[in-house]
Amino acid sequence: MSTLHAGYFTEGLEADPELARAIGGELARERHGIELIASENIVSRLVLEAQGSVLTNKTVEGLPYARYYGGAEFADAIEALAVERAKRLFGCAFANVQPHSGSNANAGVFLGLLGLGDTLLSMDTAAGGHISHGHPATLTGRDYHVVRYGVARGSERIELEQLRELARAHRPRLIVAGGSAYPHALDFAGMRAIADEVEALFMVDMAHFAGLVASGLYPHPFPHAHVVTSTTYKSLRGARGGIVLWNDAALSDRINYGIFPGVQGSVMMHAVAGKAACFGEALRPEFTAYNRAVLGNARVLAARLADAGLRLVGGGTDCGLMLVDLTGIGVTGDVASKALEKAGLAVNKNLIPFDPRPPEAPSGLRLSSNAGTARGFGAPEFEAIGGFIADIVKAPSDAALIADVGARVRALCERFPIY
Ligand SMILES: *Cc1c(COP(=O)(O)O)cnc(C)c1O
Repeated sequence: MSTLHAGYFTEGLEADPELARAIGGELARERHGIELIASENIVSRLVLEAQGSVLTNKTVEGLPYARYYGGAEFADAIEALAVERAKRLFGCAFANVQPHSGSNANAGVFLGLLGLGDTLLSMDTAAGGHISHGHPATLTGRDYHVVRYGVARGSERIELEQLRELARAHRPRLIVAGGSAYPHALDFAGMRAIADEVEALFMVDMAHFAGLVASGLYPHPFPHAHVVTSTTYKSLRGARGGIVLWNDAALSDRINYGIFPGVQGSVMMHAVAGKAACFGEALRPEFTAYNRAVLGNARVLAARLADAGLRLVGGGTDCGLMLVDLTGIGVTGDVASKALEKAGLAVNKNLIPFDPRPPEAPSGLRLSSNAGTARGFGAPEFEAIGGFIADIVKAPSDAALIADVGARVRALCERFPIY
């Protein structure tokens, strides 16, 4: 009897109808719904193919041209290409493209640059920071002494004076900038000056604005940051995974060993191939046009929501993402997001700064123009989306309204097909 079932090398998903149904369902969901979740985007066919390629078969450990296993000729070429493109895209001297995710990129950098129990100063999750920056529920929260900074009441922005006071009081080894729900531009030069003052290293996690940085539409973390981390699948519009970038050769070993063997084993070469494809696309002039549209669309959406009487945290957005405060209309983020989802609008509930409510039923919603812009939506479409959102969050239990908006959402999506 054959050791392989018939069709092992020839049949695709059709050979597993149960799985095929679920994947087909996800494709239909992406096709017919509007994606407004800031941590998502829609990749090109090219990225999809690269990430779904035979590189999933190849095991490599270590860096390109210095692997533990043989047969790495093409894996080396692919990873070297991804590294070279990442460096070109962000104008830096070194890149590690191996992190399986943004959280791994951060954990690897911390492991490489910090000692157990060292002090890390990062943004409070409740104020928009990311859990991988030292939240107590993560390993990073156990391994380091984590001090959090937030935003100021009123401005809802990071105030450098408050950050300086915290840095002086706690003398961190590392200061981290960047978060998941901070809609404003960051002052990298100002933060670096504080880091220098207390002799800390300065790291920027640009997951949510990396695409804008690549296109010159957001302040650049270099030359201010000692090290920059990012995910590759949010604003960069690419394959799932993370990256680390830096300029100082003296940090190279610590960062590379922090990633492998520090927090990871062998490389996900298929994901590295996906990253190479993503960076190649991001180097094209069309990617800058895309990011201009991301910003323009975010402004249109924010303005439409504000016109409808909804308050935007910090008064608006400097990147693709924004936070809507629903307190004024007496609806919570969980209720609003569920109602929106029924109409085909995918958003996530989110804490707002100084939120008196718990994370499961917070006061806000987080929205982004990334994915909608990737499928071709422009100002008229985001104007319409703003109207849909405003109508539904004000009447989240109005089934007739939800059905009506749902039909409009489908019609809109049909005009902008994906795949
Ligand atoms: C999304 C995000 C991450 C984590 O990425 P994963 O790939 O989910 O691990 C890290 N940092 C920031 C700022 C993020 O927004």
